[in-house]
Amino acid sequence: MESPYHFPDMDRGSAPSDEAADERPSPDTSPAPIRLPPLPTIPGCIMLRPGDADFATYVGVYNARTRIAPALFAICSTTNAVAAVFAWVKANDLPFAVRCGGHSYEGFSCSPGVVIDIKNLGSVTFDRKSMTVTVGAGASIGDIQKALKGKDVAFVAGTCPDVGISGHVMGGGYGLLARAYGLACDNMKAVTLVTAAGTVVSASKDKIPTCFGRAVAVAVDRWASQPDSCSGCIRSRT
Ligand SMILES: Cc1cc2nc3c(=O)[nH]c(=O)nc-3n(C[C@H](O)[C@H](O)[C@H](O)COP(=O)(O)OP(=O)(O)OC[C@H]3O[C@@H](n4cnc5c(N)ncnc54)[C@H](O)[C@@H]3O)c2cc1C
Repeated sequence: MESPYHFPDMDRGSAPSDEAADERPSPDTSPAPIRLPPLPTIPGCIMLRPGDADFATYVGVYNARTRIAPALFAICSTTNAVAAVFAWVKANDLPFAVRCGGHSYEGFSCSPGVVIDIKNLGSVTFDRKSMTVTVGAGASIGDIQKALKGKDVAFVAGTCPDVGISGHVMGGGYGLLARAYGLACDNMKAVTLVTAAGTVVSASKDKIPTCFGRAVAVAVDRWASQPDSCSGCIRSRT
């Protein structure tokens, strides 16, 4: 019997060979065009330039078509480090992007300048009394689900374990529990932010509600149009 899912007309055969492709430089090895000023020393931040031993391991993103090698990876493991890198980037007027899980379809976490990588801000703790999970801005959905395994609670978010919580929440965060509990961003209780002015603030519905509202609004309006950088802890009802 013919399979209803097989359309012979759509078989395209093998792709024509593109011999020129071998000659082209791969995007992650092409030289970065941005000239950097002298690099600062920032506690909690590892800086990697093209050619450094671990540089290549940070270049990969989900959508390989958007992959570009930046002039610098600033790999931050504290919120203060993010703030300091951001201040340096701003003072030197450098193009930059913030990267959490690297799953942006459009490549918004790629930049030819500085990529501020926050995956090392990956802590996850759960407080049963307040039914709150506190996560570092660089945790992935999988990190959170693993930490909550066996605790008889569910985390309101999407299903892909490699997606980063920061990018996810700022895109709303749609998952299997959305009908009952809304989006991941609807469940955010508080957030620690690095503002466009480079200061670290913690905001919630009760504390600095305008800032908190704006952080949640980014989920609708996307980070790209709001220059505040979201980093640190995101608390979510489970
Ligand atoms: C395989 C796959 C499965 C997916 N499944 C779902 C799903 O089930 N439900 C759903 O709703 N969505 C889903 N998505 C979409 C996903 O939620 C978004 O693409 C999300 O933005 C990815 O976040 P990230 O941190 O992994 O990506 P990144 O590329 O790191 O970041 C995405 C954007 O957020 C910005 N950003 C990241 N961290 C910060 C920060 N701390 N401060 C400021 N800006 C920051 C980046 O600069 C970029 O603009 C999926 C995507 C993929 C590729």
